[in-house]
Amino acid sequence: MSYLFPTYTRWEVEPDQAEGSVIIDKDGKRYLDFTSGIGVCNLGHRPAIVQEAITRQLNRYWHVSNLFIQEEQEQAAMRLADSAKMDCVFFANSGAEANEAAIKLARKATGRKKIITFENSFHGRTFATMSATGQDKIKTGYGPMLETFVYLPFNDIEALKNEVDDKTAAVMLEVVQGEGGIHLAEHAFLNVVSQLCEEKGALLIIDEIQTGIGRTGKPFAFQHFQLSPDIITAAKGLGSGMPIGAVIGKKKLAHFFGPGSHGSTFGGNPLAIAAATATMEVIFQAKFLEEVEKKSEYLFERICKELIGIPDIIDSRQLGLMIGFETSIDLPILLKELRNHGLLTLPAGTNVLRLLPPLTVTKAEIDEAIDILQSVIKKHSKTAV
Ligand code: PLP
Repeated sequence: MSYLFPTYTRWEVEPDQAEGSVIIDKDGKRYLDFTSGIGVCNLGHRPAIVQEAITRQLNRYWHVSNLFIQEEQEQAAMRLADSAKMDCVFFANSGAEANEAAIKLARKATGRKKIITFENSFHGRTFATMSATGQDKIKTGYGPMLETFVYLPFNDIEALKNEVDDKTAAVMLEVVQGEGGIHLAEHAFLNVVSQLCEEKGALLIIDEIQTGIGRTGKPFAFQHFQLSPDIITAAKGLGSGMPIGAVIGKKKLAHFFGPGSHGSTFGGNPLAIAAATATMEVIFQAKFLEEVEKKSEYLFERICKELIGIPDIIDSRQLGLMIGFETSIDLPILLKELRNHGLLTLPAGTNVLRLLPPLTVTKAEIDEAIDILQSVIKKHSKTAV
């Protein structure tokens, strides 16, 4: 019997070591990791630059608390805010905590309650972020939810026009819904969101927890569009595996998070900050992001050539290195079979196979993954010839 609450259905793979895009399990079997620890290890496993930064900090001090001035925190906040062209940062320890803080900040800053989120969204597992999430399966058994969330169909401009009003504190969205099934926000929809928020005095919160830190080829996915969010949240890839989350906001919001108004014992922990600083140093370089764009184009080409048209692949959606295949093949069976063939992938929504390879993935690794996907999907496709 396990002493862990059975909140996760665990795979049969038990990692022994990991480096770059590869995990080796305890039996010595090699896996190509196209999950990146669910969108976390954007620089692959154990990137040297991050390992060195953490080791340097390990040899200085580990934790002192946020009562102390920590120049490294200031520097990390500046780098993060600059990359989003915003002004202030609050460091937390996870995505849900960052979103929780964003929700608190939006309510306090506007004095309003209503927050609009979207069907199939995912914002976390705390009470407020679970309430914000537009998926019933996340909430089963925990009701009643916080009442202040209204869920609209994603990309539905009319629904939005009917709902955003002068009682709306914020509209909160993912530019690509990750957990919900790799659904991309449409350009026209985002324009209307932005315009309505401006008109009605509502804040625009963009959850960049899965889409941020270079995942889509820009520091943050909202930067593919003409958007100027009031708040964005980041986590996952920011620490390359060290737990960290961040709320990044505009200057006008700073005084609403004054002394004593919000806090976290571990938020901005020196080891996590060291990891985040080193991670940002690599990923936010224009050259690195150009490479991500090139790799994502290459992956797109290979997908079009080798996978589109296979019966039972209903749709394929991609922004940068965030890829989803809607499929009619039984997803748990497909994922297990891919693992058997040495490729780790993720589910999303109800019927979407999700790929989140490390941003450092090589062309050879992309080719290897495509070969495995092609042969396994063909084999399992009911209508395969
Ligand atoms: N928001 C989004 C878009 C996510 O994808 C996730 C996690 O998958 C979260 C929030 C919650 O992050 P965490 O699991 O770090 O609390």
